[in-house]
Amino acid sequence: MSRIVVIGAGVGGLTAALRLAAAGHRVEVHERSAVAGGKLGVYERDGFRFDTGPSLLTLPQVFDDLGLSPTPLDPVVRHVFPDGTVLDSSSSHPVFLERISAALGPEAAADWDRFWLRAARIWLASWRSVLQRPVTTRSLLGLSWRLGDLRAIAPGSSLRALGRRYLRDPRLRMMLDRYATYTGADPRRAPAALAAVPYAELHFGGWYLPGGLGTLGSALVDRCTALGVRIVLGSEVTGIPTRAGRVTGVRLRSGAVVPADVVVSNVDALTTYRDLLPAPSRLAQLGDRSLAGFVLLLGVRGDTPSLAHHTVFFPRCYDAEFDAIFGSARRRARPATDPTIFVTRAPDPDVHPAGSEAWFVLINAPRHGTGWSETDWRRPGLAGAYGRHILDVLARRGLDVRDRLHFLETRTPADLADSAAAPGGAIYGTSGGLVRPVNRGPVDGLYLVGGSVHPGGGLPMVTLSAQMVADRIGPAD
Ligand SMILES: Cc1cc2nc3c(=O)[nH]c(=O)nc-3n(C[C@H](O)[C@H](O)[C@H](O)COP(=O)(O)OP(=O)(O)OC[C@H]3O[C@@H](n4cnc5c(N)ncnc54)[C@H](O)[C@@H]3O)c2cc1C
Repeated sequence: MSRIVVIGAGVGGLTAALRLAAAGHRVEVHERSAVAGGKLGVYERDGFRFDTGPSLLTLPQVFDDLGLSPTPLDPVVRHVFPDGTVLDSSSSHPVFLERISAALGPEAAADWDRFWLRAARIWLASWRSVLQRPVTTRSLLGLSWRLGDLRAIAPGSSLRALGRRYLRDPRLRMMLDRYATYTGADPRRAPAALAAVPYAELHFGGWYLPGGLGTLGSALVDRCTALGVRIVLGSEVTGIPTRAGRVTGVRLRSGAVVPADVVVSNVDALTTYRDLLPAPSRLAQLGDRSLAGFVLLLGVRGDTPSLAHHTVFFPRCYDAEFDAIFGSARRRARPATDPTIFVTRAPDPDVHPAGSEAWFVLINAPRHGTGWSETDWRRPGLAGAYGRHILDVLARRGLDVRDRLHFLETRTPADLADSAAAPGGAIYGTSGGLVRPVNRGPVDGLYLVGGSVHPGGGLPMVTLSAQMVADRIGPAD
């Protein structure tokens, strides 16, 4: 039996803790904030309960052993295009083809059908070669890829280029582009391999957890506790001491050292390498940083039949939004004036008082900071003004909620940076490239889990990273 300390109680950290405890190890989790869950946050006010982070659960089979009861969504997402066309996605391919045909015409449906075959090949290749396997820097660079898999994922090609090749209707291309932002990336630079994301979402479905996605966090905490994991909240780790190239434990803000044979860090990889190890180590593969999100939490009077559980309102010019939030050679990053607006409102009586709705509105946004591709989200007045602007834009797109508000609150990338120690408030850690920091640290006994390392961000991916690390550590002797 090893003494294992997990740093951080995000989904990756908690999943690693419960797997390792189930394998017979003695596990302790140290979390700097007063609550567990990390980016999987919950906020309650006046009888409304909001998920402040994830709102869409994909690949629910990854969470099978938690005893949750996910409910499938239909539509998975409602897409409202700038010309007013509405397209509801479906996890049944034939149904989705019918809907595409009715909304955009039979040629568009035939294009999507052709694209779908390619997306399936990409998904299979990624699942086999990347998502299920721990990687080393060497294998990440392609040495262990099967040739056929490499051809399917077309490593030199972008998601945008793949869309252009298969989809003639600009609205379908817009829909595909959006999946790059699911991983925090720009579709013009993100790899074509990201076609695996819509495939996973639509093939395995989009799901909701009654009571909100925050119930996943509570289930993880309960399972950890039942397995004897000690979760210490309000306990910030400030260092990972080592001796002769091997971890010896973790140092807490109080100065105390908790001895450990193995340390699993759920802290962002950059922070782990730069700030927690005794001699700052260089990350061989950092990957690109993911973009951030600006969030509105709205308590809304009445009901809104035009909204599905998830509805996305596209702008007239998607590229103007990407230029704004990622920054371009000529202009630094800034909040987009005419952004894509993603509205989630769960028709679940457990998350809002009768006669009202709890809306979570997400806008892709530059990370917090003062660099060229960042925005200083702490600038006085910015969050309030941008929040009101978003509601004006939504009204221009046909959904005016301004006189139905019980309250409006904002959460900026700076807020997420504070609450979840996410550098710049990046939603996913590292964005959608194939190359990410690996799960094994630079000293013996140190492992990394979570959105900034292989295989990436999003609830199923961080859970897979934790499963890979737990498998690598193995059962107690
Ligand atoms: C607005 C938003 C929307 C999202 N939407 C979706 C979605 O719809 N579907 C989906 O699948 N995913 C979504 N995601 C992404 C998903 O939330 C994340 O990928 C996932 O929750 C990250 O888990 P993680 O294991 O990387 O840990 P994190 O959530 O990053 O948690 C890390 C934990 O470590 C703690 N920590 C950091 N430093 C220290 C330290 N020094 N000492 C002790 N503790 C420390 C932090 O406080 C935090 O609790 C969304 C995220 C956001 C923010």
